[in-house]
Amino acid sequence: MPAEYVSLNGRKPLIQLQGIKKTYVNAAGSFTALKDINLNFYQGEFVGVIGKSGSGKSTLVNMITGIDHPTDGKVLVEGVDIHAMKESQQARWRGLNLGVVFQFFQLLPMLTLVENVLLPMDFCNKYSENDRETRAMDLLAMMGLEKDANKLPGAVSGGQQQSAAIARALANDPPIIVADEPTGNLDAHTADFVYEKFQSLAKDGRTIIMITHDPEIEHRLSRTVLISDGEVIDPLLAHTFHWMPHPVLRACTNALEHRTLNNQQPLDLNGEFSNVLVLVEAGRIQAQQNDPTNTLLTFKPGDFLAGSQVTNHSLPGLSNPRAAEDPTKIAVLPYAALQQAAQTYPEIQPQFEQQLRSSLDRSPQDAKGVAQ
Ligand code: ADP
Ligand code: MG
Repeated sequence: MPAEYVSLNGRKPLIQLQGIKKTYVNAAGSFTALKDINLNFYQGEFVGVIGKSGSGKSTLVNMITGIDHPTDGKVLVEGVDIHAMKESQQARWRGLNLGVVFQFFQLLPMLTLVENVLLPMDFCNKYSENDRETRAMDLLAMMGLEKDANKLPGAVSGGQQQSAAIARALANDPPIIVADEPTGNLDAHTADFVYEKFQSLAKDGRTIIMITHDPEIEHRLSRTVLISDGEVIDPLLAHTFHWMPHPVLRACTNALEHRTLNNQQPLDLNGEFSNVLVLVEAGRIQAQQNDPTNTLLTFKPGDFLAGSQVTNHSLPGLSNPRAAEDPTKIAVLPYAALQQAAQTYPEIQPQFEQQLRSSLDRSPQDAKGVAQ
């Protein structure tokens, strides 16, 4: 479980998406690309937004950057509703606060690369006129483009255009960077350089939201947000059941119920919680294993417990499960949601049962360090 998931609790978000819905209407009919997105981003995070093609990632970027309007809902940045700004006000706000790298670069074709990087600086006047050219050249050099600075976008490769678009996004040293698959056209070496740059910008307090397909990048990110068919998958489910097909995770997300327990509050796995999975979101749950060892098990964020009907008594079972921290937050998943999904995806059933067995079959020496 990424520690960030827990430590974000209680922090004030920098960017808040509240009930964002986006429906595209055209001659062919209407299509809802974002259903009801509630999502926060925090200062200093390097967040990866992942999801299949067509899941709504670019639409989400357009909502956060104010480039397109939501059909419903709000985007607040430091409490300010960016879609309520006048267009001129919004353009200036964006220029100073946001660096955007578009999926298809969107460099102005009649301007050279260095002119493209200068444009946001000229627009915002953050840097003095004398400093701008040097800064633009430095940014291009950083991206390996010093020799190409005076070329038009059409005269350089897709990867070089993408590198120039990244330089342009950094022009005004914005506190927030939103990048839509910024490394899609870059070779592995340059992509790695971009990730490293983003990582160090985040360390310096910038907030980076990056859409990516690259599974190699996970270790550099503060956390990931998984989008499927216009919905955000619960991060804990996405983490715990990362192997499940996205439609299953979506169905489970919608069936999930979040609860808060007080310290020492018991959890009746034979009664109220008999036919559910209990995922620990924050705090911890402790229980004794019903076997000769009577081991005290501790369930931390990212671990889960299963009710007696789910384990079907094929596992030792737990006695006296209870919250062991105040507060302990749990997400309750009705087992029926998984069973229903398994009708369409029968392959998930055996894999789930195996995960369940290994999650409860833990010795004190367990490498995961879950048992105490
Ligand atoms: P992603 O970036 O995850 O590949 P997009 O946000 O580009 O996905 O698109 C999400 C869905 O919305 C897709 O099904 C796409 O076809 C649809 N869509 C995107 N833009 C438009 C548009 N302007 N008009 C109609 N449908 C659109
Ligand atoms: Mg896209």
